[in-house]
Amino acid sequence: MQSLSTLPLSLRHAPFRARVITFLGCCCIVFPIMIFCLFEFSDVEIITSCAIPVAVASWIFRPRIAYICAVAVLVASALLLSLYLHTFLWPFRLWEGFLFGVLVIIIELGCFALLHHFLELSAAAKQQSLQAEQQLNIAYEHQQQLEILRDQFLMSVSHELRTPLTEVKGYINLLLEYGNKIDDETRAAFMQSASYGCDELELIISNVLGSSRIGQEIKPLSMQELPLLSTITEICEHIYLEEHTLRLAIPADLIILADRQQLRQVLRNLISNACKYSPAQTLIEISALVEDDSEPMVRICLQDAGPGIAADEIPLLFHKFSRLKRDMMGSVRGTGLGLYISKQFVEGMGGRIWVESAGVAGQGSCFCFTLKRLLPVTSIKKDA
Ligand code: ADP
Repeated sequence: MQSLSTLPLSLRHAPFRARVITFLGCCCIVFPIMIFCLFEFSDVEIITSCAIPVAVASWIFRPRIAYICAVAVLVASALLLSLYLHTFLWPFRLWEGFLFGVLVIIIELGCFALLHHFLELSAAAKQQSLQAEQQLNIAYEHQQQLEILRDQFLMSVSHELRTPLTEVKGYINLLLEYGNKIDDETRAAFMQSASYGCDELELIISNVLGSSRIGQEIKPLSMQELPLLSTITEICEHIYLEEHTLRLAIPADLIILADRQQLRQVLRNLISNACKYSPAQTLIEISALVEDDSEPMVRICLQDAGPGIAADEIPLLFHKFSRLKRDMMGSVRGTGLGLYISKQFVEGMGGRIWVESAGVAGQGSCFCFTLKRLLPVTSIKKDA
């Protein structure tokens, strides 16, 4: 039953050959009946049944082919009538009737063409509504993913903030409670630890704020000429390394063009990562060398002795909220924003950042970035 009711619709979309067979099949039924009635009962009116194959053709074919079929059916009917009358000179009344029949068939064709048009419009509307529904579903899924991401982000940021905050609060409470009972050295050590906790809080907040500002270009860059060695030494002096040793291998004469605040944040992020992800009592080395590039650039590299990063995971780094699988499950805290921010800052200053690692534990990772180099005045003169 179901297939019978959908047959007319499915016929419209059937292959061309199947539609031609359907039309010819219809003619093979209608024409013999017409011939039989005409010659057996002299029923001239039966010629009007030629409207049936025309209707079928109009339904299953596009208008152009339907017109051709209609002309063919009309010519065949006219021939049949002439055969029955043994002349092409029909009586006037028959001409009148035939021409009226042609008019009816033209109207029939027009109606079917309109029907086709409306069916196509409704199919297009249905397609559009389906597409809109799909887009709505995608937007809904996207929204849900965003909400999950937001929750994860809030969770990890609040977790990240809580740890140094507890540390700062703990040292301040100790100082409040035992401030006058402890010696000066211990007091200074407590204050120093509280201060380092504040530094860590500041770095997390800068990363979070930086990540939401990027793309909006709120803070313009303040590019300055900076002597590389003294700038990095100064930045590193304010970074607390509890369990690691930091070594600098930077030539004294290099001058870079960079935004001091952003360079500081990049270095703090990289050093903080090196400390977080490599075992205690290992060495972190910051080196610098002149890039062999068309533009004068300096490459700054930070080598640690941590677990390294597998080659297939390297492309995942430097994206927002991106953390390695092992660290998502592990005990080391992180927001996955540090490298993302560092990339934006380095690129903003005209450089690039990447990581080199064999992915072998102990061999560590080497995070490198480039910055613009200023040529010393003497060398510019020499070049000139
Ligand atoms: P966070 O450290 O806060 O998670 P980052 O953007 O700084 O965010 O780092 C992204 C991820 O890259 C880290 O979660 C860690 O999995 C990996 N990673 C970064 N630095 C190192 C490193 N020195 N050694 C090994 N893995 C690292």
